[in-house]
Amino acid sequence: MAEEKQYDLLIVGAGPVGCVVAERAARLKGWRSLIIEKRNHIAGNCYDRYHESGVLIHQYGPHYFRTNKKELFDYLSEFTGWIPGNYIVKSSTRGELFPFPINLKTLEQFFGRTFTAEEAEAFLEEIRIKKDHIDNSEDFVLSRVGKEMYEAFYLGYTLKQWEKHPRELNKSVCGRIPIRFNRDERYVDHDYQFTPDKGFTELFTRMTDHELIDIRLETDFESIRGEITPRIATLYSGPVDAYFNYQLGKLPWRSLDFTFTEYPEEYVQPCVQINYPNDHPYTRSVEIKHVTQQKSPNTVVSYEVPVSEGDPYYPIPADANAELYQQYKVLADEENRKNKVYFTGRLARYTYINTDEAIEMALDTINEIIRDAEEG
Ligand SMILES: Cc1cc2nc3c(=O)[nH]c(=O)nc-3n(C[C@H](O)[C@H](O)[C@H](O)COP(=O)(O)OP(=O)(O)OC[C@H]3O[C@@H](n4cnc5c(N)ncnc54)[C@H](O)[C@@H]3O)c2cc1C
Repeated sequence: MAEEKQYDLLIVGAGPVGCVVAERAARLKGWRSLIIEKRNHIAGNCYDRYHESGVLIHQYGPHYFRTNKKELFDYLSEFTGWIPGNYIVKSSTRGELFPFPINLKTLEQFFGRTFTAEEAEAFLEEIRIKKDHIDNSEDFVLSRVGKEMYEAFYLGYTLKQWEKHPRELNKSVCGRIPIRFNRDERYVDHDYQFTPDKGFTELFTRMTDHELIDIRLETDFESIRGEITPRIATLYSGPVDAYFNYQLGKLPWRSLDFTFTEYPEEYVQPCVQINYPNDHPYTRSVEIKHVTQQKSPNTVVSYEVPVSEGDPYYPIPADANAELYQQYKVLADEENRKNKVYFTGRLARYTYINTDEAIEMALDTINEIIRDAEEG
């Protein structure tokens, strides 16, 4: 039985972070790890699976893998082949589909005229609402694109996504979305935009397929807390407030309800994702087949409705929440010093990070664990 073995690392969570730490520990140091995962599968929120219709779907929202780091891409290439990431998003507003993020084509379609890059910049300079201070997301967008596009593309989407007015949200929330003065319609700008050719679950399955890695699914950390003492360290990638039994209060998250609908057609959307800022309760519809490039006579579209209860997907960007996290971080640092528990990943650091960033964080953490172990 797994518990009779002596483990070097106890790893909580079989998401990207847990899988990478176990893999590096095994291959770099010959350390044995036990991964505890409360869900019935590995790969965390990157999990993909075959729907009843035979179509590969992303269970927890579309995952568009991208990175600027060649080393990170090379590392993952040990466990997967890739296909180019066909990440195209359109926004449905005023009864039309517009390229999104906003680029020259969006501006031309929206304002019914042509633009060079210089003309577009001059035009936005005229229509933007100048602000002395950019205090929140509303100020940020108004000061870049003016009222008409703010109301068409951003306001309704933000209200649905966060149940908060852009005025109440930090400027970084809408500030993450670029505005391009070219005709590049790709969703993101990164150097490497690829998707695993056999899916994310397969990638993480191969990564953890090692004799020094045991995985126990459908096991909550709480149910084994104190029962397993690892020789070197514990890697905790669950929610930090849960680890400390919510003693300082609960860190709030935004969640999503997904509905998957099958259609007896090869494709029903012109691109992988359509945003609905102003219509429907859902924020976006996603036909992931555009990305996976799977050949199938059927297709599946997922519809995402943001909700306040459910799995933790997005930390809510407000100062009070950041402060509460900082208080938990003090406890986490103390726990690290006293009991060699390392808190890493999206849930443990209360941060929205993409998969490449989570993997980088995991690589940093395993290096830290190795260094600390060597220094005794
Ligand atoms: C809706 C959505 C869309 C996204 N889109 C993209 C995208 O397009 N591109 C991109 O690169 N990234 C995207 N991401 C981000 C990506 O999912 C994360 O960066 C990545 O999954 C983080 O890895 P992690 O290991 O830190 O956390 P997770 O993937 O959340 O894994 C943590 C694991 O820990 C387990 N766990 C938690 N608590 C316990 C416990 N007490 N006991 C046992 N197990 C526990 C959880 O069940 C989970 O499996 C998206 C995320 C979401 C939510």
